[in-house]
Amino acid sequence: MSEKGTIAVQTENIFPIIKKFLYSDHEIFLRELVSNAVDATQKLKKLSSLGEATGELGDISIEVIVNKKEGTLTISDKGIGMTADEVRRYINQVAFSSAQEFLDKYKGVEDGKTIIGHFGLGFYSAFMVADHVTIRTRSWKNEPAVQWSCDGSPEYTLEESEKESRGTDIILHINGESKEFLRKEKIDELLNKYCRFLPVPVVFGTKEETIEVEGKEKKNKVPNVVNNTHPAWTRKPAELEDEDYRKFYQELYPYSSAPLFWIHLNVDYPFNLTGVLYFPKIKQNYEVQKNKIQLYCNQVFVTDEVKEIVPEWLTLLHGVIDSPDIPLNVSRSYLQSDSNVKKINNYITKKVAERLEKMFTKEREEFEKQWENISVIVKYGMLTDEKFYDKASKFVLLQNTDGKYFTVEEYKEHIRELQTDKHDALTVLYSQNPEEHHVYIDAAKARGYDVIQVDTIIDNHFISFLEGKLEKVQFKRVDADTADKLIDKDETTESVLTEEESKQVQELFEQAADQQAATVVLTPLSPEDNPVAITRPEFMRRMKEMSGYNGMDFAASMPDQYNLVVNTNHPLIGALLKKEEAAQKEAVRQLQDLALLSQGMLKGADLSAFVKRSFGLIGDQG
Ligand code: ADP
Repeated sequence: MSEKGTIAVQTENIFPIIKKFLYSDHEIFLRELVSNAVDATQKLKKLSSLGEATGELGDISIEVIVNKKEGTLTISDKGIGMTADEVRRYINQVAFSSAQEFLDKYKGVEDGKTIIGHFGLGFYSAFMVADHVTIRTRSWKNEPAVQWSCDGSPEYTLEESEKESRGTDIILHINGESKEFLRKEKIDELLNKYCRFLPVPVVFGTKEETIEVEGKEKKNKVPNVVNNTHPAWTRKPAELEDEDYRKFYQELYPYSSAPLFWIHLNVDYPFNLTGVLYFPKIKQNYEVQKNKIQLYCNQVFVTDEVKEIVPEWLTLLHGVIDSPDIPLNVSRSYLQSDSNVKKINNYITKKVAERLEKMFTKEREEFEKQWENISVIVKYGMLTDEKFYDKASKFVLLQNTDGKYFTVEEYKEHIRELQTDKHDALTVLYSQNPEEHHVYIDAAKARGYDVIQVDTIIDNHFISFLEGKLEKVQFKRVDADTADKLIDKDETTESVLTEEESKQVQELFEQAADQQAATVVLTPLSPEDNPVAITRPEFMRRMKEMSGYNGMDFAASMPDQYNLVVNTNHPLIGALLKKEEAAQKEAVRQLQDLALLSQGMLKGADLSAFVKRSFGLIGDQG
């Protein structure tokens, strides 16, 4: 038998288009051809298990072979193979028409990225990198082996072949621009990317193995299998120990710190999905840890861009999702509206919430220990996902400056007695920097108040968000006011100064203060409180912070506004009025600078002047 034919070209020759198409993605040809080899092998296994194909299956591994001298790359399987008729049907017609269909659909799309970009052309993707492809194949049925050959034009030849063993060899004569695919390192890289977890062993070259023969170590060359055919996500959770999950994590992300815990996903209705998602140890710079989830389709790697499939806030998780039900041959915007993808999204969210809730109720201590690592994900999820908010509001934790953890409800009870204001609302005091706010925290604690620590970047948003959600609860940073005013109660302290004296003090401090940033506020406090202090009113500060996020440079570049609070009941303030003008001015400066200094706000020339003045004052006393 020897025949020549023309592949049924419809409107135009598709080969030049295939060659050009998805330029950056030429490499997927290897994934496509190895996947076909896997399919052919799985089909044979199926036939054998049904008793239709008899005889030993033998070694069923797939082999990838580079022949530099000939300029060929061969993908060789021991699967079902094809008869001459099947080659005509599957390669000349079916494969061709699926390639044609793909191109018709996407030819008009200018930006290759709007297609998910990883959808293959099947067999014909070989022509992206080869100018001549030969198929040598022998069916499992008792029929002669055949060889099909095509040089990238619509003409092909089909003839009998000498091939003796069952299966198919796809031989690519790599074209001039694609020589990189004859490099061992390149093929290693691609197999590692796309084929790492395929269900049939894939062999590429050999590797050395040390074995012991009669007490002596001996080096042996063995086939180099590049894949793990039974990755954790394909196995039953009951079969796996914690150690297996950790090992698999290391396999996915070598050199990473161990994950905190994980979720094994496994559904078959109303969609198919398996996978393992890990909670990683969150690093300071967590942006680099994002988008590490890998998407597979029946163990074939598809992409590590899963933004449309996993809710944005879960892109900090790591791991694998495998689903044949995610439509990959469509644009990203379509993907977001696909009903399966929506269901998958909801399922993953539900699983994550359940896992966290279980840990919270059953292992509260462990949950608290991990809180630092998981709080970003939980808060991000609450901010962006209403359904998750409802679940997580039961277990989101607040930590106070003594390191104790509370749920929101527990915390409300904890502070109810002392931190309820005159409008019957609760005031939650917080600090992003307990070290810097030490003075304020001390003062607040002296009154029996509690202060929570917030520190992640997202906490600013989270606080405003919680205020909106919780009724009659407001958050105030611990330096928002003097301690006696933090909780707005109906208590007033009388001032020992007359109105006239107060006016004088006000003027004195206003003259010394930085006009742009400071507002002088006179307040009668206890004589034991400091004579001057800095506070930053909550509303003003938040406005400025918000405009900073929103890129309103004008507002963000304004100086930090603060109140210079003068305690009119402090003896030093009363004494000021009795001093002479020069001494009065000096004392006011000194008092103001001390307040600024205690907040790390005294800098540059002002700081130098302060140091000099202080030495002078010691001298005066001498
Ligand atoms: P798809 O795999 O999506 O069906 P392809 O273009 O990749 O499309 O392949 C078309 C058909 O050719 C396959 O469905 C299969 O029947 C046949 N085929 C391709 N490669 C092999 C192979 N290695 N062994 C046996 N049959 C194959």
